[in-house]
Amino acid sequence: LSERLGGVFDRLTKQGALSEDDVKTALREVRVALLEADVSLPVARDFVKAIQDKATGQAVTKSITPGQQVVKIVHDELVHVLTGEGDPGALKIDNAPAPILMVGLQGSGKTTTTGKLAKRLTEKNGKRVLMASLDIYRPAAQQQLAILGTQIGVDTLPIVAGESAVQIAKRAKQQATLGGYDVYMLDTAGRLHIDETLMQEVEDVRNAVNPRETLLVVDGLTGQVAVEVAEEFDAKVGITGVVLTRMDGDGRGGAALSMRAVTGKPIRFVGLGEKMDALDTFEPDRIAGRILGMGDIVALVEKAQETIEAAQAERMMKRFQKGQFNMNDLKSQLEQMIKMGGMEGIMGMMPGMGKMAKQAQGAGMDDKVLTRQIALIQSMTKKERANPALLQASRKKRIAKGAGLEVSDLNKLLKMQRQMGDMMKKMGKGGMLKQAMKGMF
Ligand code: GDP
Ligand code: MG
Repeated sequence: LSERLGGVFDRLTKQGALSEDDVKTALREVRVALLEADVSLPVARDFVKAIQDKATGQAVTKSITPGQQVVKIVHDELVHVLTGEGDPGALKIDNAPAPILMVGLQGSGKTTTTGKLAKRLTEKNGKRVLMASLDIYRPAAQQQLAILGTQIGVDTLPIVAGESAVQIAKRAKQQATLGGYDVYMLDTAGRLHIDETLMQEVEDVRNAVNPRETLLVVDGLTGQVAVEVAEEFDAKVGITGVVLTRMDGDGRGGAALSMRAVTGKPIRFVGLGEKMDALDTFEPDRIAGRILGMGDIVALVEKAQETIEAAQAERMMKRFQKGQFNMNDLKSQLEQMIKMGGMEGIMGMMPGMGKMAKQAQGAGMDDKVLTRQIALIQSMTKKERANPALLQASRKKRIAKGAGLEVSDLNKLLKMQRQMGDMMKKMGKGGMLKQAMKGMF
């Protein structure tokens, strides 16, 4: 594959913006890579189509070929699609006892994952967990969970012969309440294929306990099947998240993308082996690299972009040393501050900024203030931004109004710009600026 891509890159070495043809050519290879990673065909097709529109016209980083640039865009989009909201490891399990329902096909790894997750919740989150097997069909399935429980030191619901899945679920709920458990996990039975009886049973269990989390366990080595399973389970019982198992194998894990694209549900964990501690929280960046299988190209583009950013920072620093610090500079500093976790986050990193931090706090400068200041700068014309000395009374009024703020707010901003400019200049002389900016870029 690398060779094939190498060929593409040789043919595409011109710079500038990505043309439709550049993108098309590179995406043909990307499409193959996705399919090789077992991304389901319709998902791969839609994904590539979306990228086609998004990538065309985007700038190509210096020293990078259009083909490489497209790969980087694809990678970033993959990460974007794979990323769910919030922390994948944080399950909704407040309000004890919280039921977690584990669903999926037979052999997908439900029972194993139930044990792994129970262990994690016990050891990492300090929860008291009760596990119950609802698999009354496979011989010894309930014993399998009981043995796991003993192994990891997590309680399991005592086995009572002859109960239905719903009866077991209700008993688990009762036991969890009486026993003061934080969480009870219900490991359901699977089938080789989805069928009505299975779905009906899972629905009945869901109605009986009203789970806080319903986690679909899928074999990460399956592509198209994973999509069908996810669609079916989500439509019938409603899932809140996905666990991908067998990610320790050779598979590239394209199922992850298919699941996200089709269900929109977050991928929470990945299974990385048969052992009870082989469970990790889902990391989009890592899986994206694996699906695409072009990590070296992505790294190359990132390196090139970093080099360019460093060169820009260097140019900026030279200007600051000469005392040139305009509103564009201030704006990028403010934006950087927001990105770095607001005032507090940034001050710790910048030597010589301690005094300014105090001043800023004295002036009531929190992150809301930062956004307001950016709004003021955005309300200025290009000329005004480059040369704030132009700002006389009438211009000030216009700018403040445009940002929905007072002239006094703008005056504060101007004062800050002057102070920061002075400080940058002073720091530049002492060689402090270079050090400070290292932290910023
Ligand atoms: P269930 O039918 O869905 O309950 O599946 P099981 O939990 O019984 O797992 C079926 C088989 O897959 C067992 O042999 C497990 O050890 C194995 N398994 C489960 N998760 C993983 C995983 O993440 N990696 C590997 N390599 N094997 C796994
Ligand atoms: Mg099982």
